[in-house]
Amino acid sequence: MQPLKVFSVIPRLPENLHGLWELAYNLWFSWNGEIESLFAHIDQTLWRETEKNPVRFLNKLSQGTLRELARDDFYIQRLNEAVQKARNYLSRPSSPMFKEASQVNPALVYFSFEFGISSCLPIYSGGLGILAGDHLKSASDLNIPLVGVGLAYKQGYFRQYLTPDGWQQERYPDYDFEQMPIQRALTPEGQPACFMLDVGGRPLEVQIWKAQIGRITLYLLDTNTAHNPPEFKALTSRLYGGDLEMRIQQEILLGIGGMRALEVLGLFPKVIHMNEGHSAFAGLQRLRSFMQQGLSFEAAQEVAASSSIFTTHTPVPAGNDRFPMEMMRRYFEGYAREIGLAFKVFMALGRENPFNDNEDFCMTVLALKLSRFSNGVSKLHGYVSRNMWKQVWTQYPVEDVPIGAVTNGVHAPTWVAEDIGQLNDRYLGPNWREDPDCSRTWGQAMNIPDAELWRTHERLRARLIDFARMRLRKQLEAQGARRKELQHADEVLNPEALTIGFARRFATYKRANLLLKEQEKLLRLIADKKRPIQFIFAGKAHPADNGGKQLIKDLITLCRSQECRFNMVFIEDYDMEVAQHMISGCDVWLNNPRRPLEACGTSGMKAMLNGVLQFSTLDGWWDEAYKPDNSLGWAIGKGEEYSDPDYQDFVEIQTLYNVLENEIIPEFYDRGHGALPRAWIRRMKQAFVELGPAFNSHRMVTNYVHQTYVPAYENYLRLSENGFAAARELAAWRMDMMTKWSSVEIRNVQTVDAPNLYVNEKLVIEADIHLNGLPPEHILVESYFGPIKQDGSFASREIAPMTPVPDVQNVQDGWVRYRGEATPPEAGRFGYTVRAVPAHPHLLDPHSLGLIRWAQP
Ligand SMILES: *Cc1c(COP(=O)(O)O)cnc(C)c1O
Repeated sequence: MQPLKVFSVIPRLPENLHGLWELAYNLWFSWNGEIESLFAHIDQTLWRETEKNPVRFLNKLSQGTLRELARDDFYIQRLNEAVQKARNYLSRPSSPMFKEASQVNPALVYFSFEFGISSCLPIYSGGLGILAGDHLKSASDLNIPLVGVGLAYKQGYFRQYLTPDGWQQERYPDYDFEQMPIQRALTPEGQPACFMLDVGGRPLEVQIWKAQIGRITLYLLDTNTAHNPPEFKALTSRLYGGDLEMRIQQEILLGIGGMRALEVLGLFPKVIHMNEGHSAFAGLQRLRSFMQQGLSFEAAQEVAASSSIFTTHTPVPAGNDRFPMEMMRRYFEGYAREIGLAFKVFMALGRENPFNDNEDFCMTVLALKLSRFSNGVSKLHGYVSRNMWKQVWTQYPVEDVPIGAVTNGVHAPTWVAEDIGQLNDRYLGPNWREDPDCSRTWGQAMNIPDAELWRTHERLRARLIDFARMRLRKQLEAQGARRKELQHADEVLNPEALTIGFARRFATYKRANLLLKEQEKLLRLIADKKRPIQFIFAGKAHPADNGGKQLIKDLITLCRSQECRFNMVFIEDYDMEVAQHMISGCDVWLNNPRRPLEACGTSGMKAMLNGVLQFSTLDGWWDEAYKPDNSLGWAIGKGEEYSDPDYQDFVEIQTLYNVLENEIIPEFYDRGHGALPRAWIRRMKQAFVELGPAFNSHRMVTNYVHQTYVPAYENYLRLSENGFAAARELAAWRMDMMTKWSSVEIRNVQTVDAPNLYVNEKLVIEADIHLNGLPPEHILVESYFGPIKQDGSFASREIAPMTPVPDVQNVQDGWVRYRGEATPPEAGRFGYTVRAVPAHPHLLDPHSLGLIRWAQP
């Protein structure tokens, strides 16, 4: 028998405890330790049992406890102070950079498939999600008028547990949204927000939840409703759980559904940020909505792209979503017709080569074509991305492919452990939370007394070891271990030993098995009783990745071996909670991805902010942060790339053990006065000073704001003014350009009076340009110059504008002489050429039309 109606029953909180609800429903608590402790201090055991989810926690408190608490004046005072602090935080006005926009009338929307905000909102799998969560948190702290859009996965990402022999198993608990810190989103009329979406000709019902992340609202789409058929309910069941068919439906939901959801909620952000290609259909949907307002396809594309930001994360071609033509046809044939595009032309939006009918539709290509602001997530990854996607801009040298780099960062108040945070408060001032990208603030880290920093660090290590033992005991219990084995859990690890952490997804390129390759070396180091070292591992393999699962199994086998069982522990079910302990309690953070496959990597930054030293291959962020004098941490190799992966493993594992044995271990155990490892502590502080202000998400969001959000927002305002007048003008101009461009030519490129060339001395260049009747202000002529490599190509280049020479033009023939300058920056071979691109005051990026003319020999 099923009940006819179901209600959620919530406890009746005494009046003076109502503030607890207010705090519980804003995930601000996830970066404000004092709020967490307000909950935890009511009942530590229950707090742990409810997985630090304040809503579930409050719902489980007995009326007796609540009555008692309501009479605790000291507690009530703390609560009131916290509530007041939260209200003050929330009431500050938005950044004035976005004109009349505010948190209620957001200027920007940030789309992501996953968001990692707190372990009690399990809608993330790893780095991509955590990054999105940290982005929202910094946007909140910096008061950027932004909302987030994602999906409300009923079963989240899987929970990992291991069989006794170490094979990964997956568990999918059903989460109850009523018991989580999210609420139903309401329409402006106050109704629960809900709408219908067409997915391949079938109606899908979507409801909307909202999570409050400080000042930022995150909207989560949910298709698990009474009316949807099971295959549609499943769309928001598991993160990364389905096949390609489900993936395209989920991406339609996120992108197209996400834009629809905002409309239903009465929100009309002007700028969209697509975090990874999953949400690129949002760009299409905007295009369509601009066309519905009377714009041509070209004008609509101009507006959509000029006000969109796209961040790519995946440096391997296979990691980018691609859908076959046949599948696209089923979902988008009608859509294409509606926006007046032949299906082939529509498909070209997602093809590197628009003329190749065999190419699948790639979401990354779509996002690149529908956004004028594209970036990778570290300098190295920007470089890799330009190479990876250069076919989209066939006429461009790879250096000019318009994909930039905004290096990721982590949200310091979330990831800095409470104990280190208090040290920071004392020696850097409380500013480090509000203003963590300020170099002056971090510069003070040198003033933290060595002994105090080291004691704090040792306390965090001890806490990590307690945590690891507790989790190991639970793991063994769940596996039905005998009492004697359980006892082992209390004896593993040594709170004083050099502790090396390795935690990440078990994707092949991250090489979790590298340590296993030269086991004798490892065993020799582990056997050293005078200078003990130990390892703590964690990480999940994708459920379909048997190779990854085998790596975990091999690692577990080693952890269980007679030689290693006290010095190596694998903690199950890596999530934000496990991460918090590991990145604050280890001494060394080990990372050995195969360069250049780690787009950025963020766990190392979290570790760095806690004084944990980095030991990593030069990939992602570490390639950018590492200093060759090792003053901030250590490198494995020098950033070499290899064509033979086995050989690479062989070389790098030797290096790894050499550095560990000859540098890291001796320095850790070099204890001078007061038993302090002075050189080690100096590195910890040096990393705070130099890396603290750079590798945090405030710096990252500030970069996005200045380099992309504000210009994109202003583009939108400019193009949309007066019924999109500028957009229409730009579209008409663009058509004109497209037809006339083919006759633009460059000839007679020459230097003026230059018998000899000296370093840093100007060289005058001239060229004749055939404008074909185009007004000179619509063409940008540039000199393009720099030192030349052995193979004759540019080693680096500079670009400088050239201007028409007033008296030398042959208007009749349409030829105009241009003059400009080039300066050789160094001695050696130097070269230059001349190019022309279209220019228009409303055109932000001259490269976006794909028109370019180079001087021909
Ligand atoms: C930070 C974090 C990640 C990302 O770490 P990488 O260094 O990018 O691999 C993954 N999972 C969790 C739980 C994290 O906290």
